[in-house]
Amino acid sequence: ESVDIPEAKFRASRKVTGALWSWAVPSHHDSPQLISVSSSGAQLIGLTKQRFLENPQAAAEVWSGNQMLSGSRPWAHCYGGHQFGVWAEQLGDGRAISLGEVVGDHGRWEVQFKGAGRTPYSRFADGYAVRRSSIREYLAAEHMAALGIPTSRSLALVFTDRSVFREETELGAIVTRLAPSWVRFGSFELPASRQDSQLLRRLADYVIAWHFPQLLSQETEAKNRYALLLHQIVLKTALMVAHWQAIGFCHGVMNTDNMSVLGLTIDYGPYAFLDSYNPDFICNHSDPTGRYAFKEQPRVALWNLLRLAGPISVLIDEGQNVPDESVHMNDVKESTIALVRESLNSFVGEYTNQYAVIMRKKFGLVSKTSEDDLKLIIQPFLDLLEKAGTDYTFAMRSLCDVPAILASPERDTLLEAHIDSLIARSLTCDADNWKSELKQYYLQVYLPRLQDDAGELTDQCARDITQAMKRQNPKFVLRNWVAQDVIEQSDKGNTEIVDQVLDLMTKYAFDDDVPHVPDAERYAGPVPNWGEGLQCSCSS
Ligand code: AMP
Ligand code: MG
Ligand code: MG
Repeated sequence: ESVDIPEAKFRASRKVTGALWSWAVPSHHDSPQLISVSSSGAQLIGLTKQRFLENPQAAAEVWSGNQMLSGSRPWAHCYGGHQFGVWAEQLGDGRAISLGEVVGDHGRWEVQFKGAGRTPYSRFADGYAVRRSSIREYLAAEHMAALGIPTSRSLALVFTDRSVFREETELGAIVTRLAPSWVRFGSFELPASRQDSQLLRRLADYVIAWHFPQLLSQETEAKNRYALLLHQIVLKTALMVAHWQAIGFCHGVMNTDNMSVLGLTIDYGPYAFLDSYNPDFICNHSDPTGRYAFKEQPRVALWNLLRLAGPISVLIDEGQNVPDESVHMNDVKESTIALVRESLNSFVGEYTNQYAVIMRKKFGLVSKTSEDDLKLIIQPFLDLLEKAGTDYTFAMRSLCDVPAILASPERDTLLEAHIDSLIARSLTCDADNWKSELKQYYLQVYLPRLQDDAGELTDQCARDITQAMKRQNPKFVLRNWVAQDVIEQSDKGNTEIVDQVLDLMTKYAFDDDVPHVPDAERYAGPVPNWGEGLQCSCSS
């Protein structure tokens, strides 16, 4: 009703040239049901959860797209991307529709539906999302934000009665998600691949003006501004991936169309948090070669930044024609290459430094920094976890107790019990050997470094370190099996579980004792047999 042109006209899949978006209209959904609202998500755009709950029926109409927000003229974004290393040409928001931007006390937030229906970019697909993947994305974004990791956000989850066919028939859902911008690396790649340098420049100027205004105030020539933009994106991407590696987050589909230019984790699909510490872990069932395996993520981020560097180098290379196809670096002026190289070169150092900063805090080392911490303190511990297949989240949370244990008069007994609890959460290990190796690590490697950091490890001081570490090492992460448990319970009609686990994974992720959330202890407990090594596919 908010438009007078037939919907089909907006929806027909097509190639869109000369523009980076198209109008798009959400489909109508019968009997939408409001399942959950994120209170901190709502706050970002000046709303309260209470307001949704006062009239959930009306809220469901709005957040399913049945009732358009006044003033909204929804659109879908046109972008390309490299998928699994292969240039895929035009992709675009095939099932995401943006409603508008809210600008307020908490900054600028683009409000977007995922799963509300077809757009000009839907290609062969239906534009919808199923409930299981919507629950996963809805929870994960808010959880990551609560863990302090740069991410898009979630506002609301609505279930619809639409039948959506994947491997079998399922029911539909719509997530309303928020981000300051949904521009991706692939947004730059598409106009560059079409040699549309004018559109490419408009995009870059838009991104700078709205999201990197500090670059405008610097005394720089325009061409250097684009190099600075690349540099900013390199730094933000490095920080994001450093957080992923530190928390044990595996994205699963690091295609360039899923890489935010703001360094936000976006497009939650087959993601997983590590259970046992396995650097080779592949969370995406559709990634048999492990291109996006956990340990590959920093390298892939850099590979993706290289794809972005092509289009950016076109902008720096003023006056020169856009080279063919996906812009090879050797078509570009030497001065440009020098600028771009400088930015890209900063990735490894920035990534390593940020990873060390985060990991040091997780290890309770906050006073002194040593260049060798990664090699001498952090990696040896991770190697031990890998060797035994120890649960990563559990091991890091348990590490919080170690300073207090080491300072205790009952050190030996407590250390023994601590190591036994880790063994109980390990997949395979030669218990006797591993026990003595770990003990040796704690006493001869970790303890001296703690003392070096904190001075004498008094009882009080050790307890303070333990408390501080517990703010860095969550007790609860949204493991695949936990998300699966939520999905199955909600399928059986217990939809309240979504809100409960949202609370657990946001407000209480770092807490030892959780009020009012049934099953909290179970969700921090051992991975059940059925939940081990769960992989999701891209089919969602
Ligand atoms: P993804 O791998 O989820 O990032 O998706 C890659 C591309 O496929 C994006 O352009 C999506 O918008 C599009 N896409 C994925 N699923 C659907 C769907 N059910 N309907 C329309 N487009 C989709
Ligand atoms: Mg995507
Ligand atoms: Mg996706």
